[in-house]
Amino acid sequence: MKTSIPKFEQLPKSQGRHQLDLTIAGMSTPIYWQVGQSSQPQPCAAVTAMVHGDEFEGFVAAMEIWKWANTIELHGSLMVIPVCNPAAAMDATRHTPDRFDGLNLARTFPGSSQGSFTEQLAHAIWNLIRETDVLIDLHSGGVGYDYARLAGYYRDQDAQLSALFPKALVWSVPPTPGVLSYEFSRLHDKISLGWECGGEARLDRKGAEDYATGIKRVLTQTGVAHGTRKRKPQFSNRCVGHTQSQVINSDGWFLPLTTVGATVEQGQIIGQWICPDLARREIVSQYSGTVIALRTLPRVQAGDYLILLAETN
Ligand SMILES: [Zn+2]
Repeated sequence: MKTSIPKFEQLPKSQGRHQLDLTIAGMSTPIYWQVGQSSQPQPCAAVTAMVHGDEFEGFVAAMEIWKWANTIELHGSLMVIPVCNPAAAMDATRHTPDRFDGLNLARTFPGSSQGSFTEQLAHAIWNLIRETDVLIDLHSGGVGYDYARLAGYYRDQDAQLSALFPKALVWSVPPTPGVLSYEFSRLHDKISLGWECGGEARLDRKGAEDYATGIKRVLTQTGVAHGTRKRKPQFSNRCVGHTQSQVINSDGWFLPLTTVGATVEQGQIIGQWICPDLARREIVSQYSGTVIALRTLPRVQAGDYLILLAETN
């Protein structure tokens, strides 16, 4: 049965908490969201988190923005969706659980009204946010990885805006079909930002706080939130250039000997490897660069990446 999914302009405009009762593939899947709107609807921003259900920094930051949005004067409107994939969030898994369809919501946008559970969920979220002007989609390293703070953007003119995320490396996100921020960036005249920080199956509290600070700055800078003065972006952040990931082609355990933010050289030992038969060897880096993501969950399966390195300046 086709799910009737409202678009943003059809949603109630009162400030506060709202529930959208979606039934997707026969499952009740409520999406909680919060909107605040001034006398004018535009500009409109959306903040999304927990597209992956094991990423807690964006969730906590979105909950902070949710609270903050009730205390400020808006010039436009704001939609906050702290949990985009409730099924994955309940199990604290990256993907939608297998009993639904096991898909990665972050490779499924813009989704389909006739598709599987995750495809219909993507379609619902997409309809909610596609009419907005600004999107900030919050991610993290989840259970498996530790991530550097990455302030991702798509259009060159949005780099300075993304740099309002404190202490982040500014990152031109590579096009990846199905990613919410990428698909949004392909619509006409949209500001689309995708941010990363933390992970390791825990909550990086400082990262979550700085996410919230960055979001408040972006909402002020784009005219969604009232600010006494617009912050002039000071582009002092380092930038991420070309990135390389090192993938492992067997199962085993990886014990890293480097950390996020470190600089490694090609040929440098980056960790120890333990095979299923308990044989040990060292893993050396195939590339040189700054570590922007590192596998910190030791159990690794063939095809996983161990490290993500970037040229930085
Ligand atoms: Zn994610």
